[in-house]
Parts: sequence; C-alpha cells; structure tokens
Amino acid sequence: MIYSNKDVRRQDRLLTEEAARGLLLSGEYGVLSMIDAEGSVYSIPINYVWDGISAIYLHCATEGRKLRAIDKNQTVSYCVVGRTNVISAKFTTEYESIVLECTAHRNLSREEKMKALELLIDKFSAADKTAGMASAERSFERTEIIRLDIIRWSGKSKKVSPG
Ligand SMILES: Cc1cc2nc3c(=O)[nH]c(=O)nc-3n(C[C@H](O)[C@H](O)[C@H](O)COP(=O)(O)OP(=O)(O)OC[C@H]3O[C@@H](n4cnc5c(N)ncnc54)[C@H](O)[C@@H]3O)c2cc1C
Repeated sequence: MIYSNKDVRRQDRLLTEEAARGLLLSGEYGVLSMIDAEGSVYSIPINYVWDGISAIYLHCATEGRKLRAIDKNQTVSYCVVGRTNVISAKFTTEYESIVLECTAHRNLSREEKMKALELLIDKFSAADKTAGMASAERSFERTEIIRLDIIRWSGKSKKVSPG
C-alpha cells in the first residue's frame, strides 16, 4: 500500500501519512466507486474496517448491484471523509479525506470472513462483542465479506487560518 500525494495538484493541502492512517483507522464509512456490469459508474456509501496493514473489509448481503459490479471489474476506488467545517464567511470548507485505489476480492475463506466480522464488531460494537460474534455466526451464510486490497492511496486536508 503506497501512500503517494505526488499527483495532488494542491501540494499545500496534503495530509501527512500519519494523519491519513489515523483517518483510515477511525473513519466510519466511505464511498465505494465501481464500474458496474453494464459499464456505468456506480457509487455507494458503506462502512468498513481497516486490518491495520494494507486492506479494508466491507460486509453486505450476498447479492446486489455492487457484488455484480466487482465481479465484473475488481478495480475500485474508496473515499473516506473525516472532519469537515463549513466556514460561511470565507465561502469555503475545512476538510480531511483519503482516496484509496483498490482491488476487490470475494470468495474469502471462512476463517478470513470471521476475522473480518470480528474486526467490524471490535470497531463498531465493541461493547456488545459477545452478542455480535453470536450474531455473526448466525447470519454467516447470509453475509458476504469483500476485502479491498489498498494499492495506492493519498490524503488531502484543508485548514483555514483564523482571521
Ligand atoms: C453510512 C452508510 C453506511 C452503510 N454501510 C453499509 C454496510 O456496511 N453494508 C451494506 O451492505 N450496506 C451499507 N450501507 C447501504 C449501502 O449504501 C447499499 O445500499 C447496500 O450495500 C446495497 O448495495 P447494492 O449495490 O447491493 O444495492 P442494490 O439494492 O442491488 O442496488 C440497487 C439500486 O439501489 C440504489 N441504491 C443502492 N444503495 C443506495 C444508497 N445507499 N442510497 C441510494 N440509493 C441506493 C441504486 O440506485 C442501485 O442501482 C450503508 C449506507 C450508508 C448511508
């Protein structure tokens, strides 16, 4: 997973890799963009968890347009937006965001899927881990896990100085 901001036009608006990792870890959801089976662009918001290394996991139902899309074209983009702040008087917005270029993978082993569900529960339902793991076991056959391997990513941030 290569962190590269060399293509960012505004080189004065870069997010440090450390800050980008912080956002990847703490972000709640991102927008997954795909090319669908008919060749149209298709984007949806979806929760995720980072494995702490070079992949994120998504969970969903076992059918639907996004699965048909990634089965046809595994190259996807995923964008996470962190804190934002509209500054009315300056006609601008402070923001932080990351864009991940990824390959999507399905047909994971049972072990990897359960590990991904555990990571999701740890991130989103840590206080209810026991019930969450039981629920994951119960709904396992009705749940698909997508792994996005992060090939390249970049991070941008805009901060407006006061005054
Ligand atoms: C903050 C947030 C987090 C989410 N997290 C998850 C998650 O972790 N797992 C998960 O499976 N889903 C999640 N969703 C729902 C997700 O956006 C999709 O609706 C869902 O995954 C179904 O996608 P699909 O391609 O299988 O839908 P399908 O039902 O196959 O799509 C059919 C059509 O429905 C429309 N559509 C699909 N999704 C949306 C949408 N979100 N908004 C408007 N129109 C839509 C599109 O026009 C699409 O062509 C989340 C949504 C939000 C807003």
